[in-house]
Amino acid sequence: MDRTPRVSCGGCSFRWFSATSSHGLRIVGSCPRCGGDLEFLVAASQDADDAAQRDRELGYDVAPATVLGVPLGWDR
Ligand SMILES: [Zn+2]
Repeated sequence: MDRTPRVSCGGCSFRWFSATSSHGLRIVGSCPRCGGDLEFLVAASQDADDAAQRDRELGYDVAPATVLGVPLGWDR
């Protein structure tokens, strides 16, 4: 496992190490622990590529509807 942080919080100094966390924190936009500003240490495109690669390795690239079928709705 790579122990180089990908994101660091300027408020509480917490650090995140996974591409998935970094990708999600870009969407959230601030530290979920203290609300502080985040410093991203890896390019966004690299985070997205690494997160997608990790999803493929874990078999998460299959949409639920592919396996379970298309949802029929809530009125059943
Ligand atoms: Zn923080």
